[in-house]
Amino acid sequence: MSSVLDLARPELLRLKPYSSARMEAGPAAVMLNANESPYPPYAGDSLGLNRYPEPQPAGLLASLAALYGVDPTQIFLGRGSDEAIDLLVRAFCRAGADAVLTTPPTFGMYAVAAGVQGAGVVTVALDAARDFAPDFDAILAAACSQPVKLVFICSPNNPTGGGVEREGVLRLLRALQGRALVIVDEAYAEYSRQPSLVSELGAHPNLGVLRTLSKAYGLAGARLGVLLAEPDVIGLLRRIMPPYPVPTPCAAAALAALQPQAQAERRSHVAEVIGERERLAQALPGVACVRRIWPSEANFLAFEVDDADRRWQQLGQAGIVVRNISHYPGLAQCLRVSVGLPCENQRFLEVLSGSETEGT
Ligand SMILES: *Cc1c(COP(=O)(O)O)cnc(C)c1O
Repeated sequence: MSSVLDLARPELLRLKPYSSARMEAGPAAVMLNANESPYPPYAGDSLGLNRYPEPQPAGLLASLAALYGVDPTQIFLGRGSDEAIDLLVRAFCRAGADAVLTTPPTFGMYAVAAGVQGAGVVTVALDAARDFAPDFDAILAAACSQPVKLVFICSPNNPTGGGVEREGVLRLLRALQGRALVIVDEAYAEYSRQPSLVSELGAHPNLGVLRTLSKAYGLAGARLGVLLAEPDVIGLLRRIMPPYPVPTPCAAAALAALQPQAQAERRSHVAEVIGERERLAQALPGVACVRRIWPSEANFLAFEVDDADRRWQQLGQAGIVVRNISHYPGLAQCLRVSVGLPCENQRFLEVLSGSETEGT
């Protein structure tokens, strides 16, 4: 029986993982196994911070499982989805031999994680003529002709904002089974109308879906993200993860954010951001320095201006920072603006609109 783990680094499958005190024994009345202090760090600590956390906190895993519609054994919870990306590359790519495939212009961490691991980076550019949609035929050809172990697809794509056609991803998954994993990064899925690919997990052992609490859930400061994949893959990542990747205060913050009342508020915040995104998308083409704008299913918009450096500076002088994405391939003279509060978006539009009359 072939397994998706046939694609993993063989030496990792033989590695005896570090076994932390907290993995070997859960909470007990008298805890003398982890060299912790028996005293709290300060009077009034309600979290028990003198104790090491659960490596993969069961309560939070259960909440996330309900949220994403998966089993807890299908979740790796780490310090942001960035950590899951790093561990995936470590788990599947042999240094100097294997590669990841990325589709620029896209999120930079896939290539950085590959570089840290000494893995290659195969790039297949998104199709600028089709609003930066992936070229699935070209991706397939590249993945089959080179030692690609992980294909990263970002949907909606950062920094261009467009969603990725589901049928194309499914075609990749089928064609690459036994050859490579397809990792779909859905960091902005909550802002998109497209259904998540999570529902395909059971049907495709080589699928991984990245989700994060950093964006729509408002928890960027807590550093929590997940890989959703089949239990074998999750088990492998848990073997090589750092001993205690999820700090207690961060897990507590996530549990609070997943309570029904907080979830209801979040849903209305997401709806507000989507409304503001559409308002910005309608207003931006009317701004004199704006040359074009791309359709977005995320909480940001990519747009081209006459002079990106100059507009970036003019916004900065007014106290507004946006991202200058001009250095990405295919995005010369482009900026990316995150959707903020209505008053912040309004101010952004006013400063950008006024800018064409200011000195040259
Ligand atoms: C922001 C972002 C992430 C990072 O998420 P963390 O969970 O904060 O590490 C991952 N992927 C994409 C495409 C992002 O834009």
